[in-house]
Amino acid sequence: MQPACRAPFELYSKESGKSYGNQPLSICDESFTPLEVRYDLDAVKGQVTRASIEAGPANMWRYTSLLPIPEGFEPDLPVGFTPLVKAKNLGKRVGSNNLYVKNDAVCFPTLSFKDRVVAVALANARHFGFEVVGCSSTGNLANSVAAQAARLGLKACILVPADLEPAKILNTQVYGARLVRIDGNYDHVNRLCSLIADQYNWGFVNVNLRPYYAEGSKSVGFEIAEQLGWRLPDNVVVPMAGGSLIRKIKKAFDELLYLGLVEAKPVRFFGAQATGCSPISTAVKQDTETITPQRPNTIARSLAIGNPADGPYASRMIREVGGYAEDVSDVEVVAGIQELAETEGIFTETAGGVTTAVTARLLAQGRIGTDELTVSVITGNGLKTTDALAGRYELGRAVRPRLGDFEEYLAELDGPTAVAPELEPELIPAD
Ligand SMILES: *Cc1c(COP(=O)(O)O)cnc(C)c1O
Repeated sequence: MQPACRAPFELYSKESGKSYGNQPLSICDESFTPLEVRYDLDAVKGQVTRASIEAGPANMWRYTSLLPIPEGFEPDLPVGFTPLVKAKNLGKRVGSNNLYVKNDAVCFPTLSFKDRVVAVALANARHFGFEVVGCSSTGNLANSVAAQAARLGLKACILVPADLEPAKILNTQVYGARLVRIDGNYDHVNRLCSLIADQYNWGFVNVNLRPYYAEGSKSVGFEIAEQLGWRLPDNVVVPMAGGSLIRKIKKAFDELLYLGLVEAKPVRFFGAQATGCSPISTAVKQDTETITPQRPNTIARSLAIGNPADGPYASRMIREVGGYAEDVSDVEVVAGIQELAETEGIFTETAGGVTTAVTARLLAQGRIGTDELTVSVITGNGLKTTDALAGRYELGRAVRPRLGDFEEYLAELDGPTAVAPELEPELIPAD
């Protein structure tokens, strides 16, 4: 295969305009705002085409030209290019004729969209010569850093809130990573990681490598456009934790547009949060980009960032494009998980329950139209948050291996004496 041409890239600050070249740094020393990666897209215009991308591998590296991947890094993990499925059954239930689900519940290698951001961050960690990498994490990031560090032969040190779901802790330790549980919430963990990154020469994917890391999320946007046949959707519903993913999907669409790979079209972005941690959706509803930090209290742990780094920018972007943000209760989150599983056969974690429930709410509110092409972004796998469904399903008694016993059991389940199944919680509450 021909080596893909890559758009030259560098770090810069939008606020101060200062350029930083390429280095492990995330904050502008003049404006104290987050650094971003900018590309010289003109350098690849006409060379990066639909055909050149389609000729690439069936994973996120088909978009290497538009990602900050250092010269000489040969990616070999087949991350991304997850299914975009038309969700007819779910659409029928929630009132959409044109609903798609982007299914990152099956992202390789650790079943969440975080595999994309980690892949880009670790390519740069290698390039900058870090021997130890790490992250502050609400779970999925921990899993992905641990797995990909193992594969790349890097040592990993991962910090998480002490009360994280057991599955997410085990899913980190199994890769041989050092895991440190911090007695505090994500925001405490993240602050500590900044201090550690300053003190030790470690590459923290979402601290000193954050600008590179965040760019990995663009691959979700590239894939959605390509999988729709090089078209943009009308609406995208995206779960928000730090508020990075939703912005990067927008950035991806803008870059495709600039390169002439898709036609211009207004796309509205809708953010999804759990009410128990909803600093960004609250700001959107109040029509402000001022984020009031919250103390998280929700089962949607992967979204539980009370003081989101990209919150102000996410709120601004959503309002600029005429989108909206909503938040749903934990009861609705569980109902959303069940609804997506029962209609489309996709088992998502709590974050996907949030997205599904918010999509339903927005359709019910009429903010999203029945016939508009809407993509609901599912970002993580349900096997990691089975605790959210604890007590929801009866195991039933063991039946003797005889036809008669089986039939008797069926009659018990279906018969008039059967206990009424628990009423399904309403997904769409009165507004
Ligand atoms: C991290 C995460 C998000 C949100 O990502 P941000 O870019 O921080 O907004 C969404 N879903 C899942 C499952 C995540 O782990």
